Amino acid sequence: MCDHKFTFIMNFFCFVVLLLFSPVLLATTPKEPWTSPPRWASLARFNDTITATELEKLLQTVYVPDGSWKSWITITPETAFIKPSPGEAQRIQLSLAASPQECQPVPRYWKAPQERSPLPGKPLAGLTIALDPGHLGGAWAKMEERWFKIGHTHPVEEGTMTFYEALLIANRLRSLGATVQLTKTHLGPTTPLRPSMLRQAAIDQFHEEGRTTWTHRQLKWLEEILFYRTAEIHYRAQRVNQELRPDLVICLHFDAEEWGDAKHPQLIPSNRFHILISGNFNGSELRKENDRYIMLRKLLGQVHDEEVGIANAIAKAFEATTSLPPFTYHNPTKARPALKENPYLWNRNLLASRLMEAPVIFCEAYSMNDPLIFQRIQLGDYDGTRLIQGKKFPSIYREYADAVTQGLVNYFGK
Ligand SMILES: [Zn+2]
Repeated sequence: MCDHKFTFIMNFFCFVVLLLFSPVLLATTPKEPWTSPPRWASLARFNDTITATELEKLLQTVYVPDGSWKSWITITPETAFIKPSPGEAQRIQLSLAASPQECQPVPRYWKAPQERSPLPGKPLAGLTIALDPGHLGGAWAKMEERWFKIGHTHPVEEGTMTFYEALLIANRLRSLGATVQLTKTHLGPTTPLRPSMLRQAAIDQFHEEGRTTWTHRQLKWLEEILFYRTAEIHYRAQRVNQELRPDLVICLHFDAEEWGDAKHPQLIPSNRFHILISGNFNGSELRKENDRYIMLRKLLGQVHDEEVGIANAIAKAFEATTSLPPFTYHNPTKARPALKENPYLWNRNLLASRLMEAPVIFCEAYSMNDPLIFQRIQLGDYDGTRLIQGKKFPSIYREYADAVTQGLVNYFGK
């Protein structure tokens, strides 16, 4: 290589490095690089798809039961007036159908059960299901605080467990005719963002919270949360909505009690199960413009009945298979019952379930630091049953997979 060419390449390299790290470019990094601003005008596609009565019912009983939606939305029989921002005079107008018979079809990418055609022996044929294994797992499990270890036992990593669980469930669902996609195909993150790229976003968040000082450790901690939770879930949801476009998303999680120090965790008898579906936004969440927009997009997509139906079927199958008691929330600002006759179902405002436009079922099964469940996790996956505390148990992974599969067959195979 001649010197002239080398100098040119080096100059170009320095230019790129300077450009990448220039204050100008850093200053233009979007405030929340994981998301895009609300597209209020896009809600026009929901004109005449819902009546005033149904809109108010969904707002008041499912999505914003504390009534704070009234600060942002005014409903008349013909029109819903939506305030995009505080103080903004211009309001978005959503035209409402005069009666249920006059409702236009809801524009959506997912198919309702009556739009599918199951085949004999393949009760899930025609159904596209996205499985979303919660958390990152593997080498990232400690950072995301979904890791604990007792003495010389195997570490418990929720993200690694949910990924294995998703693979087991995928096989079962495919054999029943479903098309199955996973929101991730490896342990670790799917988002290209990394904590170090989220420094400005973390500083902005501290400022929004009214903080003027913080330690390096606190900043790093927030950068990491914005990475493994906020950015990662946004990235997966974007893939679900734009690329996978499934009929249903099942988020897979293993629940736990607070275990304290991850190297000396507490085992607490507290085995349970519950399913979360989107809803129960509160006043302070609604004050964020993006959350208001996403709440309305979710509501107007009219997924709620489908979510309740599927969640109900999976919860019943779980109860029949495992006899686990329901987990109960005692703080209505956090979660409220979603179906009177099924104590396993809760409306809760979670990032994943509100961002994904298809029906989303969020499973929180077992409690990883319950003494019995801890023992079952230590045994890993296996054929048949093993004797634990004097009782025979199948592998915890297969039990979970069988319950989810049975619930879906009961709901879609009817
Ligand atoms: Zn989880």
